[in-house]
Amino acid sequence: MQQYLQQDIQFLPGVGPKRADMLRQELKIQNFEDLLTYYPYRYVDRSRFYKISEVTSDMPQIQIRGQIAGYASIGKGRGKRLTADFTDGSGHIQLIWFRGAKWIPENYPIGKELVVFGKPTVYQRKLNVVHPELEDPAKKHTVSSNLQAVYSTTEKLKDHYLNSKAISKLMANLIKGLPSKFEETLPAWLLQKLNLVNLESAMRQIHFPDTAAQYKRAELRLKFEELFYIQLNILQGKTDRNKRFRGNVFETVGETFNTFYKDHLPFELTGAQKKVMKEIRRDMGSGRQMNRLLQGDVGSGKTLVALMSMLIAIDNGFQTCIMAPTEILAQQHFKSLGKFLEGMDVQVKLLTGSTKKADREPIHSGLLDGLLQILIGTHALIEDVVQFKNLGLVVIDEQHRFGVAQRARLWKKANVLPHVLVMTATPIPRTLAMTLYGDLDVSVIDELPPGRKPIITRHSYDSKRLMVFGFLKKQLAAGRQAYIVYPLIKESETLDFKDLEDGYESISRAFPPPDYQVSVVHGKMKPEEKEISMRHFVAGRTHIMVATTVIEVGVDVPNVSVMIIESAERFGLSQLHQLRGRVGRGADQSYCILMSGYKISEEGRKRLETMVRTNDGFEIAEVDLKLRGPGNIEGTQQSGIPFNLKIAHLGKDGQILQLARDTAENIVAEDPKLHLEKNFIFAKHVKKGNPNRIDWGSIS
Ligand code: ADP
Ligand code: MG
Repeated sequence: MQQYLQQDIQFLPGVGPKRADMLRQELKIQNFEDLLTYYPYRYVDRSRFYKISEVTSDMPQIQIRGQIAGYASIGKGRGKRLTADFTDGSGHIQLIWFRGAKWIPENYPIGKELVVFGKPTVYQRKLNVVHPELEDPAKKHTVSSNLQAVYSTTEKLKDHYLNSKAISKLMANLIKGLPSKFEETLPAWLLQKLNLVNLESAMRQIHFPDTAAQYKRAELRLKFEELFYIQLNILQGKTDRNKRFRGNVFETVGETFNTFYKDHLPFELTGAQKKVMKEIRRDMGSGRQMNRLLQGDVGSGKTLVALMSMLIAIDNGFQTCIMAPTEILAQQHFKSLGKFLEGMDVQVKLLTGSTKKADREPIHSGLLDGLLQILIGTHALIEDVVQFKNLGLVVIDEQHRFGVAQRARLWKKANVLPHVLVMTATPIPRTLAMTLYGDLDVSVIDELPPGRKPIITRHSYDSKRLMVFGFLKKQLAAGRQAYIVYPLIKESETLDFKDLEDGYESISRAFPPPDYQVSVVHGKMKPEEKEISMRHFVAGRTHIMVATTVIEVGVDVPNVSVMIIESAERFGLSQLHQLRGRVGRGADQSYCILMSGYKISEEGRKRLETMVRTNDGFEIAEVDLKLRGPGNIEGTQQSGIPFNLKIAHLGKDGQILQLARDTAENIVAEDPKLHLEKNFIFAKHVKKGNPNRIDWGSIS
């Protein structure tokens, strides 16, 4: 069985070396098993025929029966194509081919009864199907079932006649050759308990379903298995680590914390902040290393929670550091923590890439002799020259900007692993957090400080720009400030830069000096220039800040009440939400205006609608997950954690994931090492649940 599946794909009947190369390159299919687990992304019902008069362009792939009434060859050069007028008596539809002009009319003569299968579209107000599949109804399709699996392919594969149908044929060959007994990957007791079908049936039915009900059951079994092994892997690793990694015990809440809480805290903590502080204190006092993810929407007051946690570390004689993803943000933390701690005897320093050599020396020595208590900085903190005397707590802000490896280098800076608090303002849906950060504990600040007015968000077309500027003028006249943000997409940095420059020019024209002052910040400026520009804006000397997304993270200017996002359809949802979080920080009503042209993709439109509808970061994250799938969620790509679910979908399979999680929890609770005989199969396959998974705690 195992041997059969491990064979090189080129030895499958119907493949050979050339096609094997294509499959490898385009779909990463190397062996039989890779193909077997290349699951269809949907099914079409081939028992159903539509009348042409019923067909509309929003239908998926459909099937019609009729005849070709005539062929025509039109266009020149690359636009050259063959068309056929296809009719079934109820109407006409055009078939189009961009190649195969010679053999198609030969094989499918005029007047012959044919079945056409394909996706209807509209071009120049005419219904058509491009590159349809044509079949002789007398021969009927090769597949026995009426539900036909559809596999995603690429243009290149299609050019080499490896379309969905061809893959289906290969799949049939593979399954035909399977040895009689499939090796089960879940124990019988569990299949029975959860009423899941066995692996063999699942594999056959997922590719060649007899009925819709059968493939549903097959799908459930395979999705469950995939998610279950990930959860089992995570939970087993977690229990392991809890045993292995002892943590510093912060038993006291001492003078520093209490002084701050009583005399320096300028406001009452929100209920959510209090709850999270309790969770953190419990972790840090438990004797085990804390690994906690703190989620909270922009402006929910995470920084304060971080600060209070750091004060507890100091009270217990430890040093602590906070790492931010950008220089601007690190500086802002330095400033705001400095303000919170004014008049208290706590040693705080800032270390970033632009810290001068002469200033680094005292920082390094202060860290080594233990006098420096809080270090704030950027990536500069993970350089090897930065050594602490006794680092007890590491806070990482806006976690998604840091890779796992970078975090791990911070870990190393202490004998006993420091406690780790990872803060993120990109809310991660529960389902995703369970999988991505399953080995972290999660705290959520789900409440904003009181008195905040919800930001009003509107979508406006470019053609209404004058109205938007008129509105902006009123806000500026009332003493407010504004951000105008342009997209920055790596692939075309020069183009984007041009967008920004043009924008800056037209804004300067619409808001001319001396009444208005406009600042600009973008990625091509030197850090000092950026800094100066930001400083002018923060001080209120300029009214409008034209910027690329460099302001996305963390910048806090409470007087800004308007955020205008240009080409908003080009931004991802989480980015839009982050940007919007830059306003609404003061007492005034704030606004976010999403500008776009009329031409927006369906997905783009959904994103804008979602932004207009809600301010709730978790709701937005859920929509994002559904729209894009977890592989594209901001943060997961850079996180270094492999993410290649083959069949489960984290946005849609939340319930199955929960079942998988609960099941795995029960098993690990009863048998943490999977030594019981009934769990042998798990022990054998648990590595499957992410073979490349990185163990954050033990990395070195
Ligand atoms: P986050 O980092 O979660 O985006 P911040 O920590 O920057 O949010 O907090 C946003 C603002 O709210 C800051 O100006 C902070 O001082 C303020 N703030 C934090 N907690 C409270 C609270 N409990 N009550 C009132 N204001 C608060
Ligand atoms: Mg913050």
